[in-house]
Amino acid sequence: MARIRAVGAHRPAERLSLAEMITRRQAAVRLDIPVEMAQRNGIPARMTEAELAAIDQNPPAWLAQSRANRTGKKPVWVQLTCVVCGYSEAARPKKWWPEFTYLSCFDHGYDEVPPPAEGLSRAEVDGIGTRFVGIVDAPA
Ligand SMILES: [Zn+2]
Repeated sequence: MARIRAVGAHRPAERLSLAEMITRRQAAVRLDIPVEMAQRNGIPARMTEAELAAIDQNPPAWLAQSRANRTGKKPVWVQLTCVVCGYSEAARPKKWWPEFTYLSCFDHGYDEVPPPAEGLSRAEVDGIGTRFVGIVDAPA
């Protein structure tokens, strides 16, 4: 149901001029580590796909340790996707987020989102990611 999923192998479309380069944030998303951890351990501000692939496949000690420690825990990043227009972004999940039935950009109309199933009542949570409203349909 929820429109949140682990990022894992997600690969955002990249612009032509930057086809070979990814940012530190993108690298952190792809490695599923916090940006601060990437910075602290010397992941550069920009790197190539090949450099990232090399780190991913042959992780340095700090990354191997981090991965070993994270077994079974929640993902560091989740992909937020609008149910109406498909806009999508990676975000760090917050502890206070409930399980969302849908996510929609804040500027879509209420009637653009699928209606709640019969018997469920809807609540909305503002301020998810940079532009989303979280929609929670639950038994009244
Ligand atoms: Zn949207």
